[in-house]
Amino acid sequence: MKYKYLFGPVPSRRLGVSLGVDTIPYKTCTLDCVYCECGRTSNLTAERKEYINVDLIITELKNYLSENPAPDFITFSGSGEPTLNNKIGRIIDFVKNNYPNTKIAVLTNGTLLSLEEVRKTLSKADVVLPSLDAAIQTDFQKINRPSSDIKLNTYIDGLIKFRKEYNGEIWLEIFFAKDINDNKENILALRDAINMIKPDKIQLNTLDRPAADKGITPLSKDELTQIMKTLESENIEIISKFKSRKEIRSFRKDVEDMIIETIKRRPCTLRDLSNILGLHINEINKYLDVLEKEGKIETTIQDRGVFIRLRKSL
Ligand code: SF4
Repeated sequence: MKYKYLFGPVPSRRLGVSLGVDTIPYKTCTLDCVYCECGRTSNLTAERKEYINVDLIITELKNYLSENPAPDFITFSGSGEPTLNNKIGRIIDFVKNNYPNTKIAVLTNGTLLSLEEVRKTLSKADVVLPSLDAAIQTDFQKINRPSSDIKLNTYIDGLIKFRKEYNGEIWLEIFFAKDINDNKENILALRDAINMIKPDKIQLNTLDRPAADKGITPLSKDELTQIMKTLESENIEIISKFKSRKEIRSFRKDVEDMIIETIKRRPCTLRDLSNILGLHINEINKYLDVLEKEGKIETTIQDRGVFIRLRKSL
């Protein structure tokens, strides 16, 4: 059966194998991050509403879970901000009431945690993975390009409040792009914010492949290590890429072959591949990580976005 709102099981870098749930339409987000793998945000908004009817999502979950073993994690993520769907809590309740052994993770940019109802809803999750890339206004604008309704101090305040109210795990992700948010002033401000947020884990990340915006470059491992030292926090790590197919339990050779066959004919964006192959962007990404690591693909930036193609030498 083909699902519209579920994807995977996806081997997430941070959670192992999990079933993904998408609660919002493509690129509906409170932010428009320069590094977003899904390209520019087409609907930049802070308005919460039932963007996708949650009954449809629950029906898909019921079908999936009746035909497959329950995954370790059900993860709310996707190609935008999942908490923008104001009925997300009904899906969490459905899972908790019917599959008490399945854990729930929410990948969120955290901007809506300033709202009490969002904090309340997410407090039912087992792990919440918010992000915070900047703690000074200029860098926040530059890297996250927020909706005008999102204010940096309210955003950080929401994260601090959530920590106080929530007993589960908070894993804070910080994404760095060279010459955008890797300056000392921002890193020190982030250090202060982290001291107040008190996440259980801090995960530093940088770009895997070129972003939708030209001129965005990743940090080296040494640069990230230096930042890690400056942040002076315990439980801090650098997120690493998948190492091999073997580490991906659900890796499917036929999907890898289909990707190669498709880009052999013509270079494609992530979105093109998702449309052509009928797979979620997060799903495609795991194969691209492996192909990239093996030197089989390369990326070029063109007007329509980042194109993936086979390495010329192959
Ligand atoms: S918050 Fe996530 S989905 Fe939204 S623009 Fe940033 S990276 Fe993309």
